[in-house]
Amino acid sequence: VTALVLVAAQLSAEPPPIRVRTPMRIPDIPGYVTVKADLHIHTVFSDGSVWPDVRPEEAWREGLDAIAMTDHIEYLPHAEDLPPNHNRSYQIAAPLGERLDVIVIAGSEVTRDMPPGHLNAIFISDADALDQPDWRDALAAAGEQRAFVFWNHPGWSGQQPDGRTRWYDEHQELVEAGLLHGIEVVNTREYYPEAHRLCLEKKLTLLSNSDVHAPSNLDYHVHAGDHRPLTLVFATERSSAGIREALFDRRTAVYSGEMLVGEERFLRPLFDASVELLTPELPLSGEDDPALVQLRNHSDVTFSLRRLEQVPGLTLPERLVLAGDRTSLLEVEAEVPLAGPRDVEVRFEAENVKLTPEQNLVVSLRFRLVAE
Ligand SMILES: [Zn+2]
Ligand SMILES: [Zn+2]
Repeated sequence: VTALVLVAAQLSAEPPPIRVRTPMRIPDIPGYVTVKADLHIHTVFSDGSVWPDVRPEEAWREGLDAIAMTDHIEYLPHAEDLPPNHNRSYQIAAPLGERLDVIVIAGSEVTRDMPPGHLNAIFISDADALDQPDWRDALAAAGEQRAFVFWNHPGWSGQQPDGRTRWYDEHQELVEAGLLHGIEVVNTREYYPEAHRLCLEKKLTLLSNSDVHAPSNLDYHVHAGDHRPLTLVFATERSSAGIREALFDRRTAVYSGEMLVGEERFLRPLFDASVELLTPELPLSGEDDPALVQLRNHSDVTFSLRRLEQVPGLTLPERLVLAGDRTSLLEVEAEVPLAGPRDVEVRFEAENVKLTPEQNLVVSLRFRLVAE
């Protein structure tokens, strides 16, 4: 007995494992792997407060697949303590990324007044070439390196006090020159509806990134079910080249909090791959004894559904929340006893899945009720 007590005491004294990766469950969709990427990150090499090699391990622990190191070119508040070196954050972060199988992408943030504001150039080969007095020259240099360029936090209150995104002639000029390919529709936790609309209108890629400056767990409750804003990239392979190709082809969605933003061609299959009906056929006797439809949500996203229609003869709740990584119940009551088997289809609006600023994804749940 004493020995057992001692063993138990030793076990309880063991600290919980700290260097662990928590999987992020966002399913792949037919034809593509869903890559979880944060493409806007700072370090001490601009105005961030962490050494670059912290970033790949944070990303690894949080279940991410890819990060881009995007220190400011023009804003270097630590220059007196640290010799400026635009390529250094990537150079330091990349080897640990390699060892942890986190894809680390080289980038820079071209940091100008609005317009054009702040723009990230990623997949660059030499950040120094982007250090130019004129922003047009900086972006031309990014273009020469075949960078993917996106407009950051377009409604940021630091540049747009009313929080609204405005499309300037300078942005149109960049798009026409092939030097602007996407917009952050979410930065930090902020969603910019005008930017979402602009992406659809101008055929630009939707992005969502953390713009993290501090250790990520100071800004996000990463150990308590929260996650930083991410760009979901639907890539043909989980690699730097795969991400790059998908970004230029606009195969992305926004994942921020429980909100998904993107095109129906990606978000419908993502919903379908997430939610499984466990009870395609179930008995229903009549009043006071509802059928319990079981819906398994294999993803981490909690879907908030609002019923769009009545189903004659049946009583269903107006709202249905499919909690992430849980099985939820949908109660169905018959107002009159069933005469025979009945196929039911109910349409719901997924209020957390935005196709446009005004329009959410509509999903159908189908199941069969049989008289008991
Ligand atoms: Zn910025
Ligand atoms: Zn930034």
